[in-house]
Amino acid sequence: MPFVQIKKQYLAFAMLLFVALFLFNSRPAFQCQYTTEMPVSYLPTIYGITPTYARLAQKADLTRLSQTLMLVKNFHWIVIEDSETKTPLVANLLKESTLKYTHLNAKTHKSKQSTEMDVNICVFKLDSYFTRWYCASGVEQRNEALNWLRNHLSSATDKRGVVYFMDDDNTYSLKVFDEMRKIKNKVGVWPVGIVGGMRVEMPLVTDGKVSGYNAVWKPFRPFPIDMAGFAINATLFLDHPEAKFSRKVQSGFQESEILKYFATKDDLEPLAENCTKVYVWHTRTQKPSILDPKKLKHPPLPDGHIEV
Ligand code: UDP
Ligand code: MN
Repeated sequence: MPFVQIKKQYLAFAMLLFVALFLFNSRPAFQCQYTTEMPVSYLPTIYGITPTYARLAQKADLTRLSQTLMLVKNFHWIVIEDSETKTPLVANLLKESTLKYTHLNAKTHKSKQSTEMDVNICVFKLDSYFTRWYCASGVEQRNEALNWLRNHLSSATDKRGVVYFMDDDNTYSLKVFDEMRKIKNKVGVWPVGIVGGMRVEMPLVTDGKVSGYNAVWKPFRPFPIDMAGFAINATLFLDHPEAKFSRKVQSGFQESEILKYFATKDDLEPLAENCTKVYVWHTRTQKPSILDPKKLKHPPLPDGHIEV
């Protein structure tokens, strides 16, 4: 039948065309599904700011943290060493990670005599949870990171992002990063596990707004929340060039010190299911107790023979 013959010719031509297109198309076939024209949902960059200092468990803490962060998309890690110079241990750890990072250093201005406590730097915590000299840590380091961030953002085309202050020995669920990307205006807040002498320290939420806090340690703080319990819209650091941490405030007030530049309680955006979930824990690595190598009669290897 002529109709069938025409159809066969068309079919043969179509098949030839298909084979030719297949052979000469340089793009792999699977790419057709994901062309660059596809709308991609915008993912704000998270700038994680981590002060760190040399001690025996430093590499262990930084390894655990860096390997969590490798699972976070669009993350930029700003690591600031509390030291005169950058150390090879931290430099190599960052190089060997797959992370986007910035490596800085800033030494803490400590009192010259370690036994003498400077009241501007250290305070004695006389409460039911801590009875020891407490020196605010990470002040100079976080401020150094904020200087870098302002320079970076002022020349960047995309000035959006989220700033999160991350201690190097805390424990972070990947979910906390998803939460902070939901910040709409200024500051997002959520509960922090195992902190301030409590199982959990958290903002109290009424009708979707922060109405108070459950903190029992210094509840009179303007923002009685831990550093791990909030993140800030990065653009605000350009709007407020004066915003920084200070040594002049009493212990436990660093969080309030930085937040005062950006928000009042009414501005806080409760995240983590209206502050009902714990996605970050203020864990603390125990100081390792090791034998003094100088006291060993026959040390098998010289101390420091291997990076730990
Ligand atoms: N830190 C620092 N220099 C110090 C002590 C601490 O840079 O002399 C860093 C530390 O690595 C951590 C942050 O500051 O990322 C908070 O310190 P720490 O975890 O000791 O505080 P805490 O657990 O007591 O709140
Ligand atoms: Mn800590």
